[in-house]
Amino acid sequence: MQEINILWFKKDLRIDDNEALLESLKDRDIIPIYIIEKELWMQKTHSDRQWQFCKESLLDLRNSLKNIGQPLIIRTGEVIEIFEEISKKFYIKAIYSHQETGDYFSYKRDQEVRKWASSKEIIWKEYLQFSVFRGNLDRNYWSKKWQKNMEKKLFIKPTKINPVEIEKGEIPPDDYFFFKKDLCNGRLKGGRENGLKRMEYFFSSKLNSYSKDISSPEKSFDSCSRLSPFISWGCISLKEIFYKANLYQNNNSKMLKSRLTWHCHFIQKLESEPELEFKEFHPYFHKIRKKDNNLLQLWSEGKTGFPFLDACMRSLNFNGWLNFRMRAMLMSFASYNLWIPWQESGKELASKFIDYEPGIHWNQCQMQSGTTSININRIYNPIKQGKDHDPKGTFIRKWVPEIKDYPENFIHEPWLMERFNLSKYSNSKYTKPIIDIIQTTKIARKKIQEITQKEGYWDISKEVYLRHGSRKKSPKNRPHNQKKINLKEKELQYELTLDL
Ligand SMILES: Cc1cc2nc3c(=O)[nH]c(=O)nc-3n(C[C@H](O)[C@H](O)[C@H](O)COP(=O)(O)OP(=O)(O)OC[C@H]3O[C@@H](n4cnc5c(N)ncnc54)[C@H](O)[C@@H]3O)c2cc1C
Repeated sequence: MQEINILWFKKDLRIDDNEALLESLKDRDIIPIYIIEKELWMQKTHSDRQWQFCKESLLDLRNSLKNIGQPLIIRTGEVIEIFEEISKKFYIKAIYSHQETGDYFSYKRDQEVRKWASSKEIIWKEYLQFSVFRGNLDRNYWSKKWQKNMEKKLFIKPTKINPVEIEKGEIPPDDYFFFKKDLCNGRLKGGRENGLKRMEYFFSSKLNSYSKDISSPEKSFDSCSRLSPFISWGCISLKEIFYKANLYQNNNSKMLKSRLTWHCHFIQKLESEPELEFKEFHPYFHKIRKKDNNLLQLWSEGKTGFPFLDACMRSLNFNGWLNFRMRAMLMSFASYNLWIPWQESGKELASKFIDYEPGIHWNQCQMQSGTTSININRIYNPIKQGKDHDPKGTFIRKWVPEIKDYPENFIHEPWLMERFNLSKYSNSKYTKPIIDIIQTTKIARKKIQEITQKEGYWDISKEVYLRHGSRKKSPKNRPHNQKKINLKEKELQYELTLDL
């Protein structure tokens, strides 16, 4: 039997800067494989749009590998079964992969694979994908560790892989997964080549206006890097972007690098506590909200009656991407104004993002729902956000055509037209607001505050901070952060908010 190593591609779909790939090649021939796991893909957080992006990336990777001698092997099924099958024909010496911090499914699957490998005396070697570290971690030194790893040299891609005789395997047809029909016509296409083009375009043409347009939903489509899906699927490594950013020494490149730090900072939390995908950081927030499928659906389809919010959701439905601020606003509305459990709205949002990254996503969902206890709680008002970031209503008119002819004065609050007896609104097909924004905000704020006043709340919050909190303090020159928080809360505002 031929002795081989398995190079298990997970969410690192590239041959450049791939340490696991390089290491796997050092002592014997390899089988580079990607396993399509139906059970993983059938979760509510996953979707056709993500699959299409992944498929494009797989085809691109298959090509890159073929060019150096051994195309990507593709199998569909459960990981252990596939490895078992391979072990009948080859003597598997070791498995190489990146160190994944994925969702709970992949966490559990990896535990099983580890048990299986050890029972077969197969070594499983994992290498860093991001600057996210395993084991007992001292948060006080995390930033230094992050920096040190990011400054390491890039791994040069291999130039030759000896072919191994094994059936190549095909990608299953799209109907294999029974996904809901999800065209997402505006999304970026997957694959390293597309990622590199996007990176080149961003650095050569957009870096200079990066900070200026980051919060406008319209302009950010072009001005943000939009590298997130390529990072999530591993078409480009975080280090490659960091290297590129280092070539430009200005505030914008600094800002980009700080976001790359946040990327790992959040994933590190899930690495340390995988249950955060469904369990609140602070237990006092457990089950405080109520499931409401009707409200969830109206929100998800962009039919809440708040034009700017609906425009953002509809544009996300079409493009599979939205900027940070608007994601936060959508989440905040679902959690505070609709009072829906973040786990439910979070799944819905995850499936819409082609860049779904569990570590960032579930942290952000909890942050925007007030359940971490170590972040400043923000309740976004969609009317104010609209006026600030789409003052003329251009974005609204594009995505909410039902009101595209409304006068500028009313575009953010069309219901006010009734007061002026303007028949356009009463005849419009556009829905009336599904909730009272002022009332629901007040109630939500009160409910959260009441929880913070319960006995023992702050002791637990301190423990959460010690485990997960960023060690950077909120800068003193940001008085707006401190506005409506009481003294005790003030002391506990450990987390640095993003400079948006
Ligand atoms: C509710 C909610 C859910 C989110 N879910 C995801 C998700 O599933 N996947 C995801 O990649 N991002 C997520 N984000 C973070 C952020 O919105 C996106 O990373 C960003 O919009 C991606 O666009 P970009 O690549 O143009 O980012 P840029 O602004 O150009 O930033 C460059 C990179 O830095 C990282 N980054 C930027 N902002 C953040 C942030 N706030 N937190 C952590 N990393 C950041 C990303 O890797 C991003 O690609 C979420 C934010 C919120 C509020």
